[in-house]
Amino acid sequence: MKTLIEPQHTLDIIAEADIIVAGGGPGGLPAAIAAARHGAKVLLIERYGFLGGLATAGLVTPILGHTASRSHTPIVAGLLKEMTERMHALDGAPGWEDACQEWGIRFDAEAFKVIADQMVKDAGVDLLLHTFVADTIVEDNAIKALVIESKSGRQAVMGNIIIDATGDADVAFRAGAPIQQGREFDGQVESMGSFIHIGGIERTTGGQQAAARESLRAAMEAGEFRFYGNGFTGSNDMHRDHFSPNMTRWPGDPTQARDLTRAEVGVREQVWKLRDFLRKQPGFENAYVQLTSLQIGPRESRQVIGDYILTGDDVQQGRKFADAVARGSWWIDIHCPLGHTYPVHLCIVECPRQATCPFWAAEHDKTMRTQADLYPPDNDWYDIPYRSLTAQKIHNLLVSGRCISATHQGMAGARVMGTCIAIGQAAGTAAALAARNHISPREIDVSELRAILTDDGALI
Ligand SMILES: Cc1cc2nc3c(=O)[nH]c(=O)nc-3n(C[C@H](O)[C@H](O)[C@H](O)COP(=O)(O)OP(=O)(O)OC[C@H]3O[C@@H](n4cnc5c(N)ncnc54)[C@H](O)[C@@H]3O)c2cc1C
Repeated sequence: MKTLIEPQHTLDIIAEADIIVAGGGPGGLPAAIAAARHGAKVLLIERYGFLGGLATAGLVTPILGHTASRSHTPIVAGLLKEMTERMHALDGAPGWEDACQEWGIRFDAEAFKVIADQMVKDAGVDLLLHTFVADTIVEDNAIKALVIESKSGRQAVMGNIIIDATGDADVAFRAGAPIQQGREFDGQVESMGSFIHIGGIERTTGGQQAAARESLRAAMEAGEFRFYGNGFTGSNDMHRDHFSPNMTRWPGDPTQARDLTRAEVGVREQVWKLRDFLRKQPGFENAYVQLTSLQIGPRESRQVIGDYILTGDDVQQGRKFADAVARGSWWIDIHCPLGHTYPVHLCIVECPRQATCPFWAAEHDKTMRTQADLYPPDNDWYDIPYRSLTAQKIHNLLVSGRCISATHQGMAGARVMGTCIAIGQAAGTAAALAARNHISPREIDVSELRAILTDDGALI
């Protein structure tokens, strides 16, 4: 590869804060709010023009992991409950009690955006949208400044404690903190995917929908589409004028622009092919592509290697930890990392492609699970230990959301948004505690953190 040496920049420092949160998704938004509510001066940086991460940019609904495994007992509350109630007040989500009776919390992504704005503003968070965290300046194993890029050019912001909630551990990676990515033996991550909104479906009958699903299944069987399922009818948000299927699939590394590009273009092509296909199905003559998500959704990329690495066994056994700061209940839900599509869904022993899959050929199948081995015990959960949020080597860095310290199997459970929001509340509260006491996040008293989280309504 040819290289080019960039001339040194002199950077304007445009903001200073006790705590900087990089990324305003389910992992970052609650972290910023919690830290500010506990008195810290907080700067929240987000690359898009709105908050919410995949909840809004990815059209990902519903919020999963809010109740215990295969039950309706809430295991997350605190800021998630408040966010749900605020969306409910706008007609953008069910009320909390009703939401706990559902599989996931349905919501309207636009309602999520506006309540996020309000909560950040009310908490006194300094919000910087349209700003990408591009690099770090590290001295003595601490991040001294974040280098940001925006229409204003390349600038810097300074903070005492940094929370990496970029989903891809961009900050940790740039700062040189130890990270890992994907399966232990080949680094492959779960396939990417996206939600889409299909409009023009209001007049379709149940019978027509069932017939169209069956036609689509047959077309997928014939290899005509790169979807993993045919369940395109139904909506997980608050509106009934469209379907919002989650069925696209594309393999690749979400930290590589080439892979992201291939996935975006490939998925869009599939979506328009679906539209053409649907228009030939009785009742679907008016089907149209109402919305595609702003970005292809990564399910997994870089994980920070923290002081504890959450594993698949922790998830499946519902393991509890003395330093628990959040709870998860989602299962080991691994979307085929090789990108195989229908009838392949998950990476499990029962996979119909096992004879030709390199996972089996390479005898890595010893770590592969059966369908029965994916779930935490019924009506139970696994704890997220605080040690999975503390990064090694860089002592003023915490991580939140889907880049916490976890194995491929561990993250396949912990990645859902209910868990990320609970982790975010814990990360922000921990950072505020550290900032107040002028110590590093690793030095805080975790029992004090747990007491504050409990006072704030979190379930731990
Ligand atoms: C196809 C698909 C389906 C899914 N289905 C569900 C589901 O039904 N229910 C569920 O609960 N979960 C689901 N998930 C998982 C869930 O959406 C994510 O794991 C979750 O959103 C992770 O939250 P996060 O805040 O860690 O990351 P993200 O949601 O990715 O948010 C990261 C934020 O950081 C910003 N950012 C990133 N890099 C930078 C940077 N360098 N500088 C500034 N800003 C940056 C991004 O713009 C974004 O706002 C799904 C995921 C996918 C891909």
